[in-house]
Amino acid sequence: MYKAFLIKYAEIGLKGNNRYLFENALRDRIAGVLRPLGDYRVTKEQGRIFVECPDGYDYEETVQALQRVFGISSICPVVVIGSSDWDSLTKGVGDYVEAMYPDRNFTFKVMAKRADKNYPLTSPEICSNMGAYLLRRFPELKVDVHKPEVRINVEVRTKSYVYSIVIEGPGGMPVGTNGKAMLLLSGGIDSPVAGYMISKRGVSMAAVYFHAPPYTSERAKQKVVDLAKKLSMYTGKMKLFVVNFTDIQLYIYDKCPHDELTIIMRRYMMRIAEKLAEQENCLGLVTGESIGQVASQTMQSLASTNEVCTIPVYRPLIAFDKKDIVEISERIDTYETSIQPFEDCCTIFVAKHPVTKPNLKAIRNSERRLEDKIDEMVMTAIETASVIDIE
Ligand code: ATP
Ligand code: MG
Repeated sequence: MYKAFLIKYAEIGLKGNNRYLFENALRDRIAGVLRPLGDYRVTKEQGRIFVECPDGYDYEETVQALQRVFGISSICPVVVIGSSDWDSLTKGVGDYVEAMYPDRNFTFKVMAKRADKNYPLTSPEICSNMGAYLLRRFPELKVDVHKPEVRINVEVRTKSYVYSIVIEGPGGMPVGTNGKAMLLLSGGIDSPVAGYMISKRGVSMAAVYFHAPPYTSERAKQKVVDLAKKLSMYTGKMKLFVVNFTDIQLYIYDKCPHDELTIIMRRYMMRIAEKLAEQENCLGLVTGESIGQVASQTMQSLASTNEVCTIPVYRPLIAFDKKDIVEISERIDTYETSIQPFEDCCTIFVAKHPVTKPNLKAIRNSERRLEDKIDEMVMTAIETASVIDIE
């Protein structure tokens, strides 16, 4: 029944040039997610984006793809009425109601918008005249202007649209309208969710994974690649850097007190991520940290990992309980992948009793034992990082 979708977006705060960038980014993103599904036509029209579907398209698949596009506030499957003269309009809307609702025992209200200000009727006139027409054609209908069961929306443009189904979009802003960030992506539950949340604010993503072969397996790395793919359904294509972290980890293991391993390791992850971020023109780092979740995420530990970066570090989950993070990961379909049991590089080198309240001075002191070789090792790790293009 539907051959097109009207896409609405929140317009708050969109002015001048911003608005134009936002709309173009949204249009391009929509075209991007639909391209693999068929030959859709995506156009901008006065405060709306309009998607025309190819013959034989899959409705469910299309809606699901659109629900992953940040910036969309709602998705309305519409019937297009070729001509907007009053007779065609009433007939078109009436036919829509007839086809859509075989059982017409419900209350309704007509909502009208006209983009064409030269149209002979005003919006309130369209509403009341259309309401009257529908009541005449379908006497079993009842009007309720306050709490209607069905809202019949009519938009009058060069062509006109009628719709009554409004599917919620994901909200947020189109990816790419707010710069780029570097996500520290592990195989866990948290970091993909963190990337999703920051990306939802219009930030495009690059990602870095610290791999420690042979202590972490190919399977563990594949799991991260799979997570990156799932995430890219929302964020669009992204580069995933895989940094070989083994030598650095062994060196730290060799030289530093074992109860400080995790903290020192995390400090080197942040340092390397920051360098990659600069290289990739990223404006911030993103992690899945949450206060108190594990020993390396106490306030003291966070202060200690934060200290080594000058670039902003975004931690969208900082005040989230695990259960709420899990809920989002289930919704965005990363959970099942995240819980696959492949070790990540942190678990191999964890001490039995890691410090939970690291003393910054002590940590800095311990790091001095690495002076001989660490700068070169960091450089090598960055230079030898492999890049996987995630589409
Ligand atoms: P997650 O579920 O995201 O793995 P976690 O609860 O296991 O988080 P940690 O292992 O302490 O917590 O990691 C905290 C954050 O550090 C992660 O959310 C992620 O952003 C980053 N991180 C940890 N390990 C890695 C890794 N091997 N590669 C890249 N980033 C990592
Ligand atoms: Mg982890």
